[in-house]
Amino acid sequence: MNEIIIIGGGLAGVEAAWQAANGGARVRLFEMRPVKQTPAHRTDKLAEIVCSNSLKSDEPGTASYLLKEELRRGGSLVMEAAATTRVPAGADETFVRGWIRRYGGGWQDGSRAGFAIRGRDDGFLGFAGLVDLDLEHREGELGYMVAPSARGRGIAPRAVELLTRWGFDELGLIRLELRIDVQNPASERVAERTGYLRDGVLRNVHFKEGLRCDLGVWSRLRQD
Ligand SMILES: Cc1cc2nc3c(=O)[nH]c(=O)nc-3n(C[C@H](O)[C@H](O)[C@H](O)COP(=O)(O)OP(=O)(O)OC[C@H]3O[C@@H](n4cnc5c(N)ncnc54)[C@H](O)[C@@H]3O)c2cc1C
Repeated sequence: MNEIIIIGGGLAGVEAAWQAANGGARVRLFEMRPVKQTPAHRTDKLAEIVCSNSLKSDEPGTASYLLKEELRRGGSLVMEAAATTRVPAGADETFVRGWIRRYGGGWQDGSRAGFAIRGRDDGFLGFAGLVDLDLEHREGELGYMVAPSARGRGIAPRAVELLTRWGFDELGLIRLELRIDVQNPASERVAERTGYLRDGVLRNVHFKEGLRCDLGVWSRLRQD
């Protein structure tokens, strides 16, 4: 079989190498860093995102959406990694204060309940909470974020399990939900590991901060 040689392990090079190798080709990928650094890159790692902000809009009808959608439909590894690790843009002081106020108010009126995830010794590890709580109808939606430095340690499933138990046992809820972008397999694994079942998919819904996506609805019932 012919060998494919790819020069440069940036975003494009790594995607091309992965796709070609997946298609059965033998691939050799050459990356010059760290022997020769570029003015833009900061690390010696493959697929470093040389990026001031984001991969731009995910609004259907824009050029950057179309390009990314083509990549997604082609089973892009880079797009999957980007979707799994994305964070809200523009988290400035106003955003943070508004967010804390919403959770403070939510705790008072029973419409939200947010918790810091803390380790015994290593401080703040993330956030988990009932991002939407309906005590009257005994339902709630869970959400969580794990700090990048704390990922890969099973913290998300542990937090989801504890919150789920708290919701059922202490709040008397009947149904809990997780809403997960279908492009986020890591969170889907958390849902599976914590006993949530996928009810179905809401197509092209507003997700957060101007992002739209196909959203899987996962649920766990008190009697499950
Ligand atoms: C300051 C800055 C900010 C940016 N901000 C954004 C942004 O916010 N959003 C956005 O979408 N895009 C942004 N970009 C553009 C960004 O660079 C591209 O989106 C993305 O990195 C392009 O990927 P690539 O694989 O084509 O190139 P790169 O990621 O640059 O990859 C090229 C790779 O080839 C290697 N290489 C080059 N020559 C050789 C050689 N002879 N031998 C071996 N290896 C070689 C390099 O070391 C590098 O790893 C920004 C660029 C810069 C400079």
